[in-house]
Amino acid sequence: MNFTETEEQRDLRAAVAQLGGRYGFGYANERARRREPLRELWLEAGKLGFIGVNLPVEYGGGGCGMYELSIVQEELSAAGCGLLLLVVSPAICGTVIARFGTPEQKQRWLPGIADGSAIMAFGITESEAGSNAHRISTTARRDGGDWLLNGSKVFISGVDQADHVLIVSRTEDTRTGRLKPVLFAVPTDAPGFTHRPIEMDVVMPERQFGLFLDDVRLPAEALIGEEDAALGQLFAGLNPERIMASALAVGMGRFALGRAVDYAKQRSVFGGVPIATYQGLAHPLAQIKIELELARLMMQKAAGLYDSGDDMGAAEAANMAKYAAAEASIRAVDQALQTLGGNGLATEYGLASLLAAARVARIAPVSREMVLNFVAQSSLGMPKSY
Ligand SMILES: Cc1cc2nc3c(=O)[nH]c(=O)nc-3n(C[C@H](O)[C@H](O)[C@H](O)COP(=O)(O)OP(=O)(O)OC[C@H]3O[C@@H](n4cnc5c(N)ncnc54)[C@H](O)[C@@H]3O)c2cc1C
Repeated sequence: MNFTETEEQRDLRAAVAQLGGRYGFGYANERARRREPLRELWLEAGKLGFIGVNLPVEYGGGGCGMYELSIVQEELSAAGCGLLLLVVSPAICGTVIARFGTPEQKQRWLPGIADGSAIMAFGITESEAGSNAHRISTTARRDGGDWLLNGSKVFISGVDQADHVLIVSRTEDTRTGRLKPVLFAVPTDAPGFTHRPIEMDVVMPERQFGLFLDDVRLPAEALIGEEDAALGQLFAGLNPERIMASALAVGMGRFALGRAVDYAKQRSVFGGVPIATYQGLAHPLAQIKIELELARLMMQKAAGLYDSGDDMGAAEAANMAKYAAAEASIRAVDQALQTLGGNGLATEYGLASLLAAARVARIAPVSREMVLNFVAQSSLGMPKSY
């Protein structure tokens, strides 16, 4: 076990932090208030090789792993300009295609995902099914050599920015007659595919959408990976998803904590000493520092396990990391706000706008309760409650 990052990882961290510093919270927050994407940052990050850092070199990627992609996410987020779609495009979709796609599919999609010129959103959530992914009812049926997709999805992030959505659907197994999951890359301009924005009371640049698939016709090659192995392929994408959600949350926590500490050191109210002198303020910030470091360590463990090929070990660590990162980040934003007093709620400082954004990590991509269910059952061997 080595707790020192390699020179390459340190260089990557510094280079991403530098990019994030050039854009920063002012840029991201202004866009977020208008619900407009951070397009310039996304494209520049892509050009610099940051978005595809985890993807294979032969398809335009950096040939590194989830550890490196989590560095990219954490450092941008710590600079106040995290990119939610890193969670879905290179981490989930890029991973699934790189691991399970045919050579043609890899050539077709990975170079664009890697350099950021193409974005693939990810759609699994449905309104009736919610956290119970086994209940999804979007279905695919064969029609000659094609597939026809029907169904709907909710809360799908970034569909307005994406050219494709990786849609999780179900199809009848011809041998057993039972429904099994299948993954399709669906073009966002396909006939029968419609999307509409969901109004959300959360200040973030990426919008969420409801999707409708009405007899969307897809060629055979739109089915990603193997028809009979989609469940395993899907799970392979969910560990990266959780690692990246952790990185986004840890970065946001670091950002809020940094703002609070800077403010507390320069703000003086009684007797000429800075408010940072008061343990009532300093201790909660110190606690948050510890909690963020712990969450980050678990995230790094998850990424390390994942990159070493240990999907099972990574699943436990990635769930725990997502839990810890969400909780630490929510506390960081809340305590930062308290530290700034009235200014914590002032638009100029922007911290209050992060309240709901920080809370997203407790709900998505998997809720806190479903993580606790996983740990209770898988780690502790307790009975399933649902
Ligand atoms: C900002 C944002 C972006 C998103 N982006 C995407 C995206 O890009 N793609 C995508 O597919 N989805 C996306 N989602 C959807 C997200 O993954 C879901 O919201 C999440 O999985 C929870 O599902 P739900 O909202 O249906 O809640 P529900 O499943 O209805 O849960 C409601 C509450 O019940 C609890 N609960 C449910 N079942 C149990 C149980 N068995 N035990 C204990 N408690 C339980 C939950 O923890 C939660 O607190 C996004 C959501 C948000 C908010």
